[in-house]
Amino acid sequence: MKVNLSGPDITQKEIDLVVEVLKSKYLSIGPKIQEFEQKVTEYFQVKHAIGVNSGTSGLHLLVKALGITEGDEVITTPFSFVASTNCFLFEKAKPVFVDIDENTMNIDINKIEEKITKKTKAILVVDVFGQPVNMEEVNKIANKNNLKVIEDSCEAIGSENKGIKAGTLGDCGVFAFYPNKQITTGEGGMILTNSDEIANLCRSLRSQGRAVTGTWLHHDRLGYNYRMNELQAALGVVQMERLDEIIEKRQRVANLYNEKLEGVTGVTVPYIDSETTRMSWFVYVVRLDSNIGRNSVLKYLTNNGIGCKPYFTPIHLQPYMKEMFGFKENDFPITERISNSTIALPFHNNLTIDEIDYVVKKLKEGIKLYKY
Ligand SMILES: *Cc1c(COP(=O)(O)O)cnc(C)c1O
Repeated sequence: MKVNLSGPDITQKEIDLVVEVLKSKYLSIGPKIQEFEQKVTEYFQVKHAIGVNSGTSGLHLLVKALGITEGDEVITTPFSFVASTNCFLFEKAKPVFVDIDENTMNIDINKIEEKITKKTKAILVVDVFGQPVNMEEVNKIANKNNLKVIEDSCEAIGSENKGIKAGTLGDCGVFAFYPNKQITTGEGGMILTNSDEIANLCRSLRSQGRAVTGTWLHHDRLGYNYRMNELQAALGVVQMERLDEIIEKRQRVANLYNEKLEGVTGVTVPYIDSETTRMSWFVYVVRLDSNIGRNSVLKYLTNNGIGCKPYFTPIHLQPYMKEMFGFKENDFPITERISNSTIALPFHNNLTIDEIDYVVKKLKEGIKLYKY
């Protein structure tokens, strides 16, 4: 049996709308991007949604729009996908990592203030694996210290912390639509903000620095081509309409895993915080006890046709980060310990019970084989 780590959920509706766009006159900068952005502003009750060609592009534009630049420090988490740090390295800002909360695996909010210096410009938090950060708390710290806040919600579209939707309560947030995310546009991202100023800057910067109301060959500032095309936007329109259905399907798969892994020694199932009033599952990540050879279990699963990954390798231990900033082992012990214990199991909307049973069976076998 072969079970993939992830997989998109595309129905005839998505296919029909993409084909409709292909037959139309507009393959970029047309009505579908507007429709997609409109759908996002309505669902998330934010003033502006700006579609871009990736989550990374969205984060980068926000870094530019917030004026984060060379010499500035940005407080963030080392337990994330590299894009959440890369987005400000592009502008030569410096990462100041804060270790994570053992349970949620999100940045430990209680440890943020001690890292603030005169150079700190912003806090960039990540809703890891879909678990939303308490943005009220982060905003309190930011307001007190006059800092900007970016919420990287690339893994958390639809999640809620105490009823507040991820991506909506900082100065700005970003969703991503790579095929392994909850909803996909192939590649793509969406910036959310209630600030007219941030929105106008992002709209200009995504399209070569053109003024939002200006003409094609008039450029106000140095910009990029970070636009989302009409084919991507058409996919996004239908996927967005299906978001609630998709979140429910993923919850079903998570429930099945939770049931089948209950009481299995050596395995800890994902922790859901009491503040998480709605969980939009990105991946299903278990932790193995420290007396189990995690890497051997990963290999065992892979050899048995099961897609799995050690989510995440800490950002500060990536080769280029060590080289650029001199980070080393043990700099962020909680992040490193957790990172050495995790396995992301196959997880997508349409995973069958048979596939889940197979994954659980092989996981149990692997644990037995590689327990010291
Ligand atoms: C997916 C993801 C992104 C954006 O990735 P893209 O591939 O550029 O869309 C950013 N941050 C995190 C935490 C992510 O998981």
